[in-house]
Amino acid sequence: MILKNANYIDVKNGRVITQTDIQIEDGKIVKIGENLQANDYIDCSSKLIVPAFTNAHTHLGMSMMRNYSDDLELQDWLVKKIWPFEAKLTKEDIYWGAKLSAVESAKNGVCAVVDMYDQIDSTARACKEVGIKGILAKGVLDVAGSGSERIDIFKQNYREYNSDDIKVVLGPHAIYTCSTDFLKECLKVSKEYGGMLHIHVSETMKEVEDSKKIIWDDTCRILGFVGIFRY
Ligand SMILES: [Zn+2]
Repeated sequence: MILKNANYIDVKNGRVITQTDIQIEDGKIVKIGENLQANDYIDCSSKLIVPAFTNAHTHLGMSMMRNYSDDLELQDWLVKKIWPFEAKLTKEDIYWGAKLSAVESAKNGVCAVVDMYDQIDSTARACKEVGIKGILAKGVLDVAGSGSERIDIFKQNYREYNSDDIKVVLGPHAIYTCSTDFLKECLKVSKEYGGMLHIHVSETMKEVEDSKKIIWDDTCRILGFVGIFRY
């Protein structure tokens, strides 16, 4: 397959190459140059070829909650609306929510996502079927207890789904849902399981103001105390 007469953004070298041909074999670019020949080609003279995007933070399985009470502050939205809603979701619900988001991602040029949610099996299945890569963070917290049980589920998810295209990582939800001891435990476990950790930080003014009331002066200092930045 050759993309003929393409305008191509060469990100590595910071330039745009115009009217060039791009040869693709087995899903990979193998050659870029002029007058490349193949029976199978697409005329791209009116197209711009760009590297695929990576969505660095998403919740694929939440697509059915779009616009749901979206006029609330984050804390009210989570506590009063989202968490009760999520308590009723099945694995199948999350699969279909993730599938919709994965298809939308692919259609818009996103070939990889960093996702944080529950039910890694549902999200992994959706990503694989659509053909996008995923760093899937198993959302964990200990605000209502059961922190270690959630970490055990993460370990099980890692064993079952971690692969070349799907990386399963630990996703402590935020400092307001995870104690510092729990965050330290997450850090320790994540070092043993692939070395990556994904977390929400300073999402709202309330989170920043609340963290000032504790001991430290901002959310990042709390994470620094935990040791995340010495990772
Ligand atoms: Zn998020």
